[in-house]
Amino acid sequence: MNSSLATVAYIGATILFILSLGGLSNQESSRRGNLFGMIGMAIAVLATVFGPQVNSGGYAWIIGAMLIGGSVGLYLARSVQMTQMPELVAFMHSMVGLAAVLVGFATFVDPTATEGYEGAAKTIHALEIYIGIFIGAVTLSGSVIAFGKLSGRVSGNPMLLPGRHWLNLAGLLVVIYFGSVFMGVHTVEEGMMPIIVMTVIALLFGIHMVMAIGGADMPVVVSMLNSYSGWAAAATGFMLSNDLLIVVGALVGSSGAILSYIMCNAMNRSFISVIAGGFGTTSAKPAAAGGEQPAGEVTPISALETAELLREARSVIIVPGYGMAVAQAQHTVFEITKHLREKGVNVRFGIHPVAGRMPGHMNVLLAEAKVPYDIVFEMDELNDDFPATDVTMVIGANDIVNPSAQDDPTSPIAGMPVLEVWKSKTSIVMKRSMASGYAGVDNPLFYKENNRMLFGDAKKMLDEVLTALRT
Ligand code: NDP
Repeated sequence: MNSSLATVAYIGATILFILSLGGLSNQESSRRGNLFGMIGMAIAVLATVFGPQVNSGGYAWIIGAMLIGGSVGLYLARSVQMTQMPELVAFMHSMVGLAAVLVGFATFVDPTATEGYEGAAKTIHALEIYIGIFIGAVTLSGSVIAFGKLSGRVSGNPMLLPGRHWLNLAGLLVVIYFGSVFMGVHTVEEGMMPIIVMTVIALLFGIHMVMAIGGADMPVVVSMLNSYSGWAAAATGFMLSNDLLIVVGALVGSSGAILSYIMCNAMNRSFISVIAGGFGTTSAKPAAAGGEQPAGEVTPISALETAELLREARSVIIVPGYGMAVAQAQHTVFEITKHLREKGVNVRFGIHPVAGRMPGHMNVLLAEAKVPYDIVFEMDELNDDFPATDVTMVIGANDIVNPSAQDDPTSPIAGMPVLEVWKSKTSIVMKRSMASGYAGVDNPLFYKENNRMLFGDAKKMLDEVLTALRT
């Protein structure tokens, strides 16, 4: 393939990626958006493999790598549970970071990569390598820690080292110093030491940054690492002089940054305070490990009684959370919704922006169960309607319906907007025990007079509710 054909293919792929992002902004067009993305990626891969930058001697390597990478991807996509999706995404971000680091080192040691670069061009190329490896290494180690936190292998509590901002500043100064040394080196041997020191510091940066972030702030970290992985890919594009990679990386980087901003707004946090880590923990009490001890009396309810309440209700709001994903209860939820709607009940869904374990988690599950989009509402659209609601069913949600976010300034989730389910006539919380949610804080909602607890696995309990409704 000659270079102009490859350029045309790259432009076509870029347009498809932009259309893909546009499609993904709306649930109804998201399938089409995914399709555009897949076609764009196929064109991009073909144009790169058969493009001018690859000579025919490299095909065996490329095919071998594609077979291995493709098989691992296929295996993971087929075997991963829906609840492990956030960890998978974090893992993939770490792979992008690793790729940027490896490409950076390979470009640096490859004598042909710098051929033809002189003067300013040579310095810029060295800068691309240095920054590319730096972003890649932060993304790599940060994503590995995020993977650990999301899968419960690493504690969700913030780890706050004494003088952590000074440590970060000192690390940054060392990185800048060695960057200036690296710009002036003439041989690979001379450059190895600065670049290795910088990589180690960048890896520590990534670990330190994500370790310092408290449980409830994790959504911002997930979207932020998504953004970093985009910038790491763009940096790889600069190192390899591949325009498409630069454009795609910038698209991912900027959309991830916009998502981080939206998540920060949703949680009433400033971006800087989340990145600096340990938000609110200086004045607030930290989340207790494994959750606080429950305080107060709760009123349990049976599936039969829940069905009774639903049958008598005129308006119902369903608030799904992470537990619905764990129980895979979305299909039963839809069956109940269908049944109630047929009986003339006004059923709506209230979605918190950080419900579940990844942005859009609940929307994906409800779409999978074919819940109509026009009864799915965002928190802000629905929060004023709770006082006029007869029954609110909270299905495996906890932090997103915790009134202490509003009432208790010392709570680790203080200030985070929540769904005000306690304002409805009756709220029913479905969960297996009194355990706390991701942020590890007790939930006063459970002890409110108008709240009932339906203990058990959400799928099992909802099946019972559905059976009771049908009889
Ligand atoms: P939470 O983690 O606060 O609560 C989920 C609840 O579901 C738990 O208390 C658990 O209680 C219950 N549960 C678990 N399994 C089942 C089951 N099989 N059946 C019934 N209930 C079950 O989830 P929320 O969705 O309310 O809030 C999301 C939290 O995750 C927030 O703190 C958010 O910051 C954080 N987060 C969000 C991310 C995102 O991008 N959306 C990313 C990372 C973190 P029990 O064990 O008693 O059953």
